[in-house]
Amino acid sequence: MFYEQSCIFSEFPLDPCDVLRGDADALAILKTKTSTRFLFFKDGEALMRDDDSGEPVYLNIDDAYVYLNGEEIFLGKNQQHAYFAITGDMTGEVEGDFLDLRSIARNAAKNGFSQIPSLLARGKMLLDWHNRHRFCSKCGAPSNIIKGGYVRYCNQCDTEHFPRVDPVVIMMVIYDNKCLLGRSPGFLPGMYSALAGFIEPGETIEEAVRREVYEETGIKVGDVEYIKSQPWPFPSSLMIGVIAQALDGQININNDELEDAKWFSKEEIKAVLRNGGDDEFRVPEKLAIARHLLEYYLRLRWNDD
Ligand SMILES: [Zn+2]
Repeated sequence: MFYEQSCIFSEFPLDPCDVLRGDADALAILKTKTSTRFLFFKDGEALMRDDDSGEPVYLNIDDAYVYLNGEEIFLGKNQQHAYFAITGDMTGEVEGDFLDLRSIARNAAKNGFSQIPSLLARGKMLLDWHNRHRFCSKCGAPSNIIKGGYVRYCNQCDTEHFPRVDPVVIMMVIYDNKCLLGRSPGFLPGMYSALAGFIEPGETIEEAVRREVYEETGIKVGDVEYIKSQPWPFPSSLMIGVIAQALDGQININNDELEDAKWFSKEEIKAVLRNGGDDEFRVPEKLAIARHLLEYYLRLRWNDD
């Protein structure tokens, strides 16, 4: 069914092999196997084949060994291969192009769906996190990568540190058969999207939705219904997509986050989905969960083609 269509960056394709992660000796052996594949990242970009396949370059141990330093991220296994994410200064001997994950996701969304962005997102998110968390946040000593990259451990104060995920609520706010979309400074001309914001410590998803919508537009929200979620590797978010029922329709923008917010009718949104939009009104592209929420709202709420 339509609403089950997954967002790009979801559907991780490997068995993450939790037990194997904790076995440093087994991981060391796995890295030497010829069937093992290494995904290479540099400055947040992934090394991709320079054709239209949408596939990364899979390095084997012969190509990858010069980059191994004990900080490889074990991503998991499928029937044929184990996968690691690695980074370093590539010397240029390997064919391929470095591509940012938005472009990779955009290409995958154009072609329907692919699990490759999910595989790459996990590698990028973990490598990013290690790069930004080399020292213990409790005592300041250098920490070490363990569990295949899913933990950093501080020998000095015996503390484990876990990779962070930042939850973000993103909401389609509905009132009187209209949908509330906003634009932030810096958006493309005419671009309106779902309101969104980080969940604060101690908040539920529902509370975060109600607070964000009220802060950004002065609108009070009642019911909140979870729809779907999307990992967003810039750098480590989880987008939590909901539909929220507004209790009133009076927009009052009272902070700097939004440049404008408006109620859009079903017809206006359907037209823009059909014709692609213009500098007056356009909506997010298919790689964004905001687009999924819009399409969900149009096609299932009113059951109308
Ligand atoms: Zn420490």
